[in-house]
Amino acid sequence: MSFRLAVSIKGQLIQKIAPPAELEGLLDATLFLRGPLMDSARGNPEEAWRAIGGPATGISLIAPVQVHGTAFLEEKALWALPSRPRADGILLDKGVSAGSLRFADCLPLLMASRHPRPWALMVHAGFEGTAKGIVHQALEFLCGRIQGFQAKNAFAWIGPGIGPCCYTRRKTGDEKTALGLKSLPRESWTDLGESIRFDIPEALRIQLLSLGLKEDRLFRHGICTSCHPEQFYSYRAGDSRARIFFIVRSGPAVHNRHPWWENI
Ligand SMILES: [Zn+2]
Repeated sequence: MSFRLAVSIKGQLIQKIAPPAELEGLLDATLFLRGPLMDSARGNPEEAWRAIGGPATGISLIAPVQVHGTAFLEEKALWALPSRPRADGILLDKGVSAGSLRFADCLPLLMASRHPRPWALMVHAGFEGTAKGIVHQALEFLCGRIQGFQAKNAFAWIGPGIGPCCYTRRKTGDEKTALGLKSLPRESWTDLGESIRFDIPEALRIQLLSLGLKEDRLFRHGICTSCHPEQFYSYRAGDSRARIFFIVRSGPAVHNRHPWWENI
């Protein structure tokens, strides 16, 4: 129930989230890390989908334009490609469409449960979105959309992203730093004098626990994308275009189709 080891298929690194037993057959979550398929897509979700053979599966893909905001989409054909609505999270509860988000240092966050019915919410949680309260907004969104939602029943996975080792921001003259200092948990940042070191994965963990998720249902990937460019794309380490491609399906219809990456 954590992150499986990454596997290489013709040089393309792929890492799966291992669902707990209660979500077997109801959740598939796959991270396409560094590799030739994602190199060729250059961060474009339509290209990435084509590169992995997505169109041939008959599954539609939801791939919003990410704006470091706090808006979420529901699983509706209306939001699938070629439509590109602006959003930073997707609720998946049918298994008909796949949701996708792209990352190079920002953190993929996945929450899922089968209570009271199967659902998963994938989130683009970078410094800015986290400082704007995307975790809190996500829980409010779930309360509004999933009748009977209870945070204590949810599992959460905090994916690979930039670690505190590589993430500092100027202390003064930066509005985003000021927002982070105001809104992020005090334990998640360190004052270095002229700069502030932010630990975004730790901020996400503290926020999730404070909103009622249980520690034993929370999994951290824990590897810094900027420190490990051989496995991950990292904006700070020089990847200006290529992105990690995160694809999720969740819901009763997941078992109806099995694209190759769901069988790894
Ligand atoms: Zn690092």
